[in-house]
Amino acid sequence: MHKITLIPGDGIGPSIVDAAIKVIEAAGVQIEWDRQVAGMAAVEKHGNPLPDATIESIRQNRICFKGPLTTPVGGGYRSVNVTLRQAFNLYANVRPAISFEGTDTPFKNVNLVTVRENTEGLYAGIEHFIKVDEEKIAAESIAVVTRKGSERVIEFAFDYARRAQRKKVTLVHKANILKCTSGLFLEIGREVAKKYPEIEFEDRIVDAASMQMVMKPGIFDVIVTTNLFGDILSDLASGLVGGLGLTAGANIGVDAALFEAVHGSAPDIADKGIANPIAMIIAASMMLEHIGELKAARAVEQAVRDVIREGTHLTPDLKPGSTCGTADLAQAIVAKLG
Ligand code: ATP
Repeated sequence: MHKITLIPGDGIGPSIVDAAIKVIEAAGVQIEWDRQVAGMAAVEKHGNPLPDATIESIRQNRICFKGPLTTPVGGGYRSVNVTLRQAFNLYANVRPAISFEGTDTPFKNVNLVTVRENTEGLYAGIEHFIKVDEEKIAAESIAVVTRKGSERVIEFAFDYARRAQRKKVTLVHKANILKCTSGLFLEIGREVAKKYPEIEFEDRIVDAASMQMVMKPGIFDVIVTTNLFGDILSDLASGLVGGLGLTAGANIGVDAALFEAVHGSAPDIADKGIANPIAMIIAASMMLEHIGELKAARAVEQAVRDVIREGTHLTPDLKPGSTCGTADLAQAIVAKLG
């Protein structure tokens, strides 16, 4: 029996999380869910988007399954996602992008995973204006790339490649211009690669890599890169396989791992029963893999792929005009696992 912190989230969160739980149950994995709140739901209940009880639960269980959250506008609240990332040192954001047969995209046979450094780089949060007489004459943002931060995420990418039987790691950088920050990341990548002789290593400059991801996505296997480039390239990769509604991410850290859909809480369709639960169900499959339930993880992924290929139980975002709702789609996946 696994014990996992469950945050249903805001907007469409509770409905897609509920769908994913049914799929996990159908895959035969026993989980004791420790239900906690965050985001708007937590503000309404406790006046705090990230209550201490939620943090404590994640600290104890070390695994968290999280629906999308709405960060309240105003009130000085920090983004819950950023706070969680920092609180648990979630340094690697892992996003698989694997083509689904039956989706409406011109890109076929995409099969890559982006590993994004999630805690430093240009998103370290060191930014300021330079003012003269109250006039903003310049703005500065400082990118921080550390040896420790780079080593751990690059090693994670190689270990992931080894576990997932992937053959190549491509390090994406801009070391020709950013000679210190990107240069250090590349230098460490070359050092780490020597410890994994069975895995091919190459590096590409970010602008060329972006073009090649669109023109020849098949040349990529595992991509590892710094925070800003990873933010952009992981969304690009999602676009190659049909958009954010089909993409999940894992945030892996020293102290915990958190699994989620990539899209937001979609308040515009929150009470309509038509949210697509697939990204959340893929997040569930990634979590099952992480906790060692490999057979169930594969079965869930295959069931999702079969339902998308058949195309008869798809929500309107995937099949315009469809009357299939969240629960119908989830039920179609559950039926495959029965
Ligand atoms: P947030 O502020 O939480 O990020 P948002 O609406 O700005 O929410 P998303 O939630 O990512 O951002 O939604 C962008 C668009 O995609 C919306 O029109 C939303 O309805 C749609 N969308 C997002 N997720 C899904 C989903 N799972 N199923 C169907 N439509 C979705």
